[in-house]
Amino acid sequence: MRGSIRLFRILGISINIHMTFFLLLLFAVTGGIKWLALVIAVFFFVTLHELCHSLVAMRFGIKTREITLFPIGGLASMAKIPERPMQELAISVAGPLSNLGIIVVFFFPLKALLGTEAFFNPSTLTWPSTLAYVYWLNLMLAAFNLLPAFPMDGGRILRALLAIKMGYRKATKIAVIFGHVFSLIFAYFGIVRFNIMLIIIAVFIYTAASGEELQQDVKENLKKFMVRDILPRDFITLDKGTALSKVLELMFHSHQEDFPVVENGFFCGFATRQDIMAGIHSFGMDRPVKDVMRTSFPKVNSTDAILKAQNIMNDKGIRALPVMRDGKVAGVITLEDIGRVYAMMSQRG
Ligand SMILES: [Zn+2]
Repeated sequence: MRGSIRLFRILGISINIHMTFFLLLLFAVTGGIKWLALVIAVFFFVTLHELCHSLVAMRFGIKTREITLFPIGGLASMAKIPERPMQELAISVAGPLSNLGIIVVFFFPLKALLGTEAFFNPSTLTWPSTLAYVYWLNLMLAAFNLLPAFPMDGGRILRALLAIKMGYRKATKIAVIFGHVFSLIFAYFGIVRFNIMLIIIAVFIYTAASGEELQQDVKENLKKFMVRDILPRDFITLDKGTALSKVLELMFHSHQEDFPVVENGFFCGFATRQDIMAGIHSFGMDRPVKDVMRTSFPKVNSTDAILKAQNIMNDKGIRALPVMRDGKVAGVITLEDIGRVYAMMSQRG
């Protein structure tokens, strides 16, 4: 995600930290070592929370590419949105459950260790009370995330529960109304208490809820489109022997950046922009395209839904797919082509 840097990778997921998180760190540094410990704890528990979402998603075959940490929570970018309500329910519940699990497991041991006084009075005055703070943070994280408002987990849980009964479209509409009502409540308290944080959260929830509704509408509409409806009319194919210098020239002079490779009229390989640029970088311009093309790659049919093409690309981490019609290559579809349809749909007002 833009404005974030990668910290490390775990289970194939890259853990990124958003620039705004450093504001929190700055705040902590001025507050002393105990505040710093608290911020690191927030970082740790939010990461754990998001990883739990990701692990359950993985069980349903949905990959998480990255987790981005913001000061008020994390965001796991999944390759696709779960199709079934029960899957969305399980994925959404997993995050808050991890925090509640910590609350349950450590309640008695930590109370015994810290003493009742420090345990029930979390603060940053002493180390035991700071540790108690770290512990109770989990309850705050769980409670905040369980609010039945998009984009919080609670909003998704609500939508999934409703969707079992009435389908995604109607369920999303109702969950969005919940989101709007909650944001108004936050805004009200933010204004009467002069709490700028509550107002920011209110705006955030309102926008996210509206965004969710739009996304659902666009998705419903996209279902009606097939790959052939948006497939660019003209496309260029390469011969196995085409030199990379020539391919680069074609990329500059056409709108195409990913090319099917054909031999004696038969489709035999696919060279994406990444393959071509990486090839030029390592071998130079004179090599033929057959040295850099892929010979095994996913394909779609011109009569497939564009949602299917999008899911394949997101899943495999590629941005272009060859399109087949009657066993012959009929063109190339890219994420940008699909993105254009999204943009047009979203602008319809
Ligand atoms: Zn969550």
